[in-house]
Amino acid sequence: MDKKLLPFALQDVPRYTSYPTAVQFQPDFPGVTADQWLTRLSPEASLSVYVHIPFCRQLCWYCGCHTSVPNSYDRAARYVEHLIRDIERSAGLLNGRKGRVKHFHFGGGTPTYLDDMHIAEILAAVDKGFGLASGAEVALESDPRTLTRERARVLSGLGFNRISFGVQDFATPVQMKINRLQTYGLVASATEFLRAAGFKAVNFDLMYGLPAQTVESVARTARQAAELQPDRIAVFGYAHVPWFKKHQKMIDEAELPGVAERYHQAVTIEEELCGAGYAAIGLDHFALPHDELTIAAGNRALRRNFQGYTTDVADALLSFGASAIGEFPQGFVQSARDTLQWSGAIARGESPVTRGLSITEEDRMRAAIIERLMCDLSVDYAKIAARHGFGLEGFADVPDKLLPAIGAGLATLDGTRVAVVPRHRLFLRTVATVFDTHFVSVPNRHAKAV
Ligand code: SF4
Repeated sequence: MDKKLLPFALQDVPRYTSYPTAVQFQPDFPGVTADQWLTRLSPEASLSVYVHIPFCRQLCWYCGCHTSVPNSYDRAARYVEHLIRDIERSAGLLNGRKGRVKHFHFGGGTPTYLDDMHIAEILAAVDKGFGLASGAEVALESDPRTLTRERARVLSGLGFNRISFGVQDFATPVQMKINRLQTYGLVASATEFLRAAGFKAVNFDLMYGLPAQTVESVARTARQAAELQPDRIAVFGYAHVPWFKKHQKMIDEAELPGVAERYHQAVTIEEELCGAGYAAIGLDHFALPHDELTIAAGNRALRRNFQGYTTDVADALLSFGASAIGEFPQGFVQSARDTLQWSGAIARGESPVTRGLSITEEDRMRAAIIERLMCDLSVDYAKIAARHGFGLEGFADVPDKLLPAIGAGLATLDGTRVAVVPRHRLFLRTVATVFDTHFVSVPNRHAKAV
């Protein structure tokens, strides 16, 4: 790793799956405001729906998601009852108008922790309340360790057509360190079950920066993953935050690769996947040439939201479940993370939203600049500012702020066009901070750039 890159790699930077980012959301945000935003949606508004299931069969030590392992299935069954109640309550606020849900994403946790009946009930409630558009992307996250041929058929029959598997690493020593044992053969079989059941798309998640990982082991995992031809592969760096995620204390910090090693692992995965025919998309996604993400990236129509890179262009994201984040034209809302607080509000017939943020016109303009940079690796900030009715007053410091990144060869500035050098895409978020007026560099607030 070039020494000039080291300070950038060590910087704590947001993921920019939204702007402003979730750390800016305000506590005690009124649930009635979230309800008003829902009520004010245009009848023609296209919708995207996210449902969060905060349960897993067992914890992976690296996990950064909002999840837990329930003592019994009853807890999950009660959760589903509240979830459906909240979906029905929200649908009621739309005054019976049916939106057009083009993207439905079932995340967690592990949504397939739920039995088929509960999954079917949730999907039916969303369809009844908001209307799934024909041809909608209906996606869920699943655990390949529990996916049988029969279950793949059932999920496909319910209407799911895209599935994501957490693969992370195929090396057994790594899997033992992270409490997630799943052989290559098991993932290959689960992938084959999905294809046979008619799923149109399969996604894998891979990770670098885990204990016992080496450049050689991640290269092997990337090659093995590519052999199975998932349509998309997302690659994330492990963020070690045991003060926030207690179970990460099971990972010995002394066994974690250092920043230079993490950088080499990330670059090696990229080289392997691109060598196997995948297109590099934005910061950390890879997709086969036929995939909608690759096509959207080629057309500069790629989007970025809480699920990462997407082709979703919905006017609003409705979210259901503890900790779930939604987005409206007026701003962001987030439900209570605590399941009891969340279910208590729903039982009282109230919104479970506890955090949120109203966004300003300037936020909207800066969000558009950051999104284009994160998606296209380049942006003309003057053009986007003008499109939003702004001049260049707020950008006088941009050339100075960019100087360190330009000096290190990460970025270029040509007039008002900023570009990140493609081989340095790992540092996209660092360059994006230049346009983020809320960003304050506070240690441990965000994950490291690499
Ligand atoms: S299965 Fe996924 S959500 Fe559950 S603990 Fe493992 S990484 Fe976290």
